[in-house]
Parts: sequence; structure tokens; C-alpha cells
Amino acid sequence: MDITIIGAGAMGSLFGSLLAQSGQNVLLMDIWEDHVNAINSQGLGVEFEGKTTRINITASSNMQEPCKSDLVIIFVKSTQTKQAAEQALRCLNNEGLVLTLQNGMGNADKIAKKVHPDRVIAGTTSHGATLLGPGLIRHAGIGPTLIGMWSKNTSARLASIKDMFCNAGIDTQIEENIHKIIWKKLIINVGINAITALTGIKNGKILDTPPTGVLVRTAVKEACDVALAHGVNLPDDIAEQVFAIARATGPNRSSMGQDVDHKRLTEIDAINGAIVSMAQKKSIPVPVNHTLTALIQTLQKNF
Ligand code: NAD
Repeated sequence: MDITIIGAGAMGSLFGSLLAQSGQNVLLMDIWEDHVNAINSQGLGVEFEGKTTRINITASSNMQEPCKSDLVIIFVKSTQTKQAAEQALRCLNNEGLVLTLQNGMGNADKIAKKVHPDRVIAGTTSHGATLLGPGLIRHAGIGPTLIGMWSKNTSARLASIKDMFCNAGIDTQIEENIHKIIWKKLIINVGINAITALTGIKNGKILDTPPTGVLVRTAVKEACDVALAHGVNLPDDIAEQVFAIARATGPNRSSMGQDVDHKRLTEIDAINGAIVSMAQKKSIPVPVNHTLTALIQTLQKNF
């Protein structure tokens, strides 16, 4: 398969490296020229459990690069999804599909507006990666990847993409109700990201202080009310699942925490901010999510 990855940071490079190693024809596209040049001159370095492997893979910073891909995978941050979707349209062949495994709500809809909704695959992944520098990433964690068609129409090609991912060592399952899966991931991010980002703590620390736990529970409860108003009924124990993930990823700093630490734009608008926007449309009060969103927006405005 001809695959273009738009946004070859931590996750785009990780998925690109695994797919390229399994024999797929992969092009990494990224606007960061030093990273692209390092990949093209020395190969992409992937550190896993202390060992670094160099992988030959082609990268480009030319966003007008002529390509006719069977699959485009978008792995930019949610703040860049609209631009990436425009690029995706230029990269696809007539039958090509676009996959997003980004965090947050709204990515698949933005992509569907540019390419036809029937050509959008959405999902979540529990793989973790960190960008260490130009041409070098760390594969930080392994977990399942869940994918499904964003529109109600099914595509026979979804199964071949799942098989291709599994062959590349990316354990992948097809989900009928991918909207619910994305909501679940959103709720986890709603519970952990902004709170850890604002307080400077690692994920596991949210369990140590009872008031922090109450804050997490309230943010999650508000988000579940919004989900329900949008026809998505999440499990009663979802807050416990958020705490379990915080425990399992205890030593990690959340992605939003890392963004704040490095004074980078965060994905707040697609996480707690998305809850606020969706709540407004249904007149649901979400004061905790509102406050968390406003605080992160204030922080990032002053970076
Ligand atoms: P990242 O910042 O490491 O990579 C994003 C890359 O996109 C950067 O290299 C940047 O230069 C590039 N970029 C920005 N605008 C672009 C454009 N218009 N065209 C092409 N490239 C562009 O981010 P990441 O950690 O890889 O995360 C990507 C997405 O995956 C996010 O939505 C994140 O929440 C999600 N995610 C991350 C992880 C993780 O462990 N890192 C895990 C699951 C999901």
C-alpha cells in the first residue's frame, strides 16, 4: 500500500516506521525541516527499551509533494487538523482513505468536511511515543488500536487496513461504534490532561490528594452528561477507568502537561474545550470543564 503520514512527530513517525518495516511504501510529511532532513540523511531513529534502531524511510517537508496514496494517516496535533485535511486531499488517489488516531473530539469531522465522510476512518491508539529530537523518537508504550468508519457506510477496505496494521505489529481491532470509543478516550483525557498540566503533577499523583480526585470525578461527570445528550451512554464506572489509567501511567507526564512544560500550544480546544462547546449547544452547565479550559487558554496565550 502507498501510505502518506501527515504529521511525522512522535506518533506519525512511530506508525510510519512500523508500517515501512513491514514492507509498505511510506512517505512521512512534516513541516519541521530539521526533522525531515535528519530522517532522509540518517534514517529515522526509534528507541525502544533502551535500544535504538535506524529505519530507512522517506520524508518530505514539501506539502505540495505529488502523491497518490491509498491511505493517508493524519497525526498532527488537533490544532493543525484542518490544514492537514487540506493536504490529505492533495495526497489521495481516487479511492484513497484517510485515518485519524489523534486525541480529542472534532478531528474526524474536520477531515470529513474536506474529503468525503465515507472516506474517513477514525479511531484511538494506546501506543505511546515521544519525540526526542530531529530524526529520533522513543516508542514509549504498546497497546491496542481501535478503528472504524466515521460515517455509517462500511468499507470493505477497513478489514485490509486492519490486517496491514496487524502485520506491522500494530494490534488493531475494528469497532462498529467508533464514536463511542472516541468519546471514551476523550473522557480519559478530560479527566487527566488539563488537571495534570495546570498543577505540574505526573498522572499518578491525581490519586494522592482527595480534592484532586473530586475535581477529576466532576470533570468526567460533566463530560458524561454531554455525551449522553449526544446519544452516547458511557459506562457508570468510567471515572474508575480514568483513575485506573492514571495509576497505570503514573510516572508519565500527560501530553498536555508536556505541552505546557515546553510552552507549546495544547489540544485543550479538542478536549475540555470540546466538552464546553458541545455543552453550550445543549444548555448543559459544565463549570469545571469551563474553568479548566479557560485556565489552559490563559496559560498558552501568555507563553
Ligand atoms: P507531535 O507534536 O510529536 O507531532 C506532530 C507533528 O506534526 C510535528 O512533528 C509537527 O511538526 C507536525 N505538523 C504540524 N503541522 C503540520 C502540518 N500542517 N503538516 C504536516 N506536519 C505538521 O505530536 P504526537 O505526540 O505525535 O501527537 C499527534 C496526535 O496523536 C495528537 O492528537 C496526540 O494527542 C495523539 N496521540 C499521541 C500519543 C503519544 O503518545 N504521543 C498517543 C496517542 C495519541
